[in-house]
Amino acid sequence: MTSTLFRLQSNRFSTDNIQATLVCSKCTEVFSKEFPLDLEGQTIKFKCPVCNSAGEADLPYRSPEEKENFELDLDLVEEETGGEEFEDY
Ligand SMILES: [Zn+2]
Repeated sequence: MTSTLFRLQSNRFSTDNIQATLVCSKCTEVFSKEFPLDLEGQTIKFKCPVCNSAGEADLPYRSPEEKENFELDLDLVEEETGGEEFEDY
């Protein structure tokens, strides 16, 4: 039995997940899937949404640049909601 591999074609980190575009080695279809940020750098197993064969993919780590963007996004969110929360106290 040969295992299916999902090759990462491209990926994008958002504030709460990893949006990956992957290619299935079995059916060669390209699909996109979202993963929790906790899974960065890990090998994860899931089923191909196209041909339904079980396989695995290596998720990337965020680059320092992407981490910086991520932190900037968080700062913005805090500024936007911070005022309202403060009034509640
Ligand atoms: Zn497939």
